[in-house]
This record gives sequence, C-alpha cells and structure tokens, in this order.
Amino acid sequence: MILFTVGPVQMYPETLKTEGTQLPYFRTENFGSMMKESEELFLRSVKAPEKAYFIALTSSGTGAMDAAVQNVLNGHDKVLVINGGSFGSRFADITRRYGIDTDTYDIPFLCPFSKEEFEKYSGRGYTALLVNACETSTGQKYDLDYLGDFCRRNDMIFIVDAVSAYLADPVDMEGQKIDVLITASQKALALSPGVSLIALSERAKDRCSGHKASYYFDFLSYIDNQKRGQPPFTSAVGTMIALNQRLKAIMAEGTEKENALHAARAEYFRKALMNLPVSIPDIPLSNCCTPVIFPEKNAGTAYKTLMEEYGLVLTPSGGGWKDIQLRVGHLGNLSEADYDKLLEAMQHVLDKRKDD
Ligand SMILES: *Cc1c(COP(=O)(O)O)cnc(C)c1O
Repeated sequence: MILFTVGPVQMYPETLKTEGTQLPYFRTENFGSMMKESEELFLRSVKAPEKAYFIALTSSGTGAMDAAVQNVLNGHDKVLVINGGSFGSRFADITRRYGIDTDTYDIPFLCPFSKEEFEKYSGRGYTALLVNACETSTGQKYDLDYLGDFCRRNDMIFIVDAVSAYLADPVDMEGQKIDVLITASQKALALSPGVSLIALSERAKDRCSGHKASYYFDFLSYIDNQKRGQPPFTSAVGTMIALNQRLKAIMAEGTEKENALHAARAEYFRKALMNLPVSIPDIPLSNCCTPVIFPEKNAGTAYKTLMEEYGLVLTPSGGGWKDIQLRVGHLGNLSEADYDKLLEAMQHVLDKRKDD
C-alpha cells in the first residue's frame, strides 16, 4: 500500500524505527530537555516572534482547534470564520459550541477566496479571525499575508489552523502576525496521529484565563509545565520522541527546503495529470494535496479500484463531492517514482472506463 492521503501519511524509516521501540519513563530530566529542544525547533520552524509559547497536546489536530477556542476566546468575542469546506465549518461549530457570537465567510465548492468580498467584513467589530491555512477538504490555500494584515487593521486575534499547511507551504508567524498557530503530528511531520502542536503569541497568552478553560486543555498549565519540558499529564511519549527526531532533521536543512520539496512533488504530479481526462480546480492550491475533479463523476469507483487493485490509497471526499473529487496527498515519504505508479494506475482506471 502507498498512502497518498493527508494523514496518516507514508512515514520515514527513522520514524518507523523510533516508534517501534520500548518507551522510556517521561518524568525525567532527559525527557524534559528533549521537549525544551523541540520547543526551540518548532518555534523556529514557524518563525515565531521572540516572545512566543509552545504547547504540545496529546490530541489530534481538532483537539488543538477546540483548545485554542476555549483558552483564547470568550463570551465577549465576536468572531469571523472563513468557511471554505469541512475544516472551516468545524471551526465555526467549535466556536458556536462555546456560545461565541460567530459569523462565517462562506466559499462555495470550487470557488476561490475573494478579497473584494472579504473586505466587506472589515470594520464590523470582529475580535478574532479563524482560518485554516489550507482548507484540506478542497486543497485551497488562503493568503495569510493578506489575512494577517486584515487582522492588524481590524485589531483582531488571528487564529490559524496550519495543520495541513505546516511544512508544505511557507508559514511565518511573526511576518503574518499570527496569534495562534496549530499543527498536528500525522500530516507533513509524518508521525503517528495523537500529538498536536501550538505556538501562541504573547497577546494570545494574555487572553488565556486558566480557570475558565477546559481542565485538560488549560494552556496556562501547559505553558507553566513546559518551563521544565514536562506535560501536565502523560503525553504520547513515543510520538514526542519521534517528533524531536523529525524536527531536528527538518531544521538542520531549514523549512524552505521542506516547502520546496512539497512544491516539487505537487508540481510534478499536477503537470503529469494534464494528460488525463480529469481536471484541477482553478483556485489557489496548497502544496499539501492536489484536488482532482472527475467530470464523469466516477471518483468514488476510481478510489475503490485504485485501492483494491493497485494498493494506492487516495483521499476520498465527503458528502456530495464523493463521486466528483479525490485528493492526492503530497505529505510524507513519497517519491517521484510513487507518483509515476499512481499516474500509470489512474491512466488504466480511466481508460478502462472508456472501453466499457
Ligand atoms: C487534518 C486536519 C485537522 C485535524 O484533524 P484531526 O483528525 O483532528 O487530526 C485540522 N485542520 C485541518 C485543516 C486538517 O487538515
């Protein structure tokens, strides 16, 4: 099986080796200094400002989205959510769950974000903007430079779910004026699911009021414990060790190299795809994945055939887009040879259909 998914993804040999070994006990100085090192590496990887805070949660990415809302926002906020698909709508579900006044800027399927439309939300008294850097359900990438500037102009807290964009696309916490930046272990980091990482700005931290937030996800407690590299509760120890290893390898080369790697994979696949009777939507795309549109509405059967007959696992789409769109991931340990295999198999699957 080769996974062209968006998480979990193909893992690297070093990760497989590390995650397959006996776990150490973690209330030790060794574990603490490793987590301090991961803090430094992660904050550098997102270009965090000098004063920023690192939180490693034992939860999937949604746990971090939920925790960010609970800790940083409150009932006095009036928030705006960019809703261009299932992850945007998840953010709005979370803020509404906590009774926060929420408006959404909705982007229909296959349509690009429009700055002109979005500017209408300027000067309307919003206190925070929540956005997915890449809306993974469609592959659309939003312009974080522009959105950061929008937040600055409107004095809004800027909460960015970069779960799928981290490492695939450039992310610059300081330059893009991001207050809360979220990612998770099973995307480009190519680790087991179960760890989510957060970088908080000073002004986001100042909004955290420990006693009102969730007990388990109390950011102030995480920040306090992280001073000695310890989590408040038992963390996913094995994944934290594999994370440290990945961060060291990535930062030895720099995130620009990672961005370029993902960009090259995406470009290689997208170029070759032009020869097949499918299309790519005309929207700004993340390097995290390529959405592939099947005009014959056979995406669902192609997904099944590719998996069952060729051992190639693509990312299916939910709900009404099941037969229209598949997504091909560019995260994890994938080579050009893997994409050649996929393209050849897609050619067979689509040709067979024509002959039937
Ligand atoms: C994967 C992903 C998440 C997290 O999903 P989990 O299943 O909770 O890990 C959040 N946001 C985006 C944009 C994602 O791609």
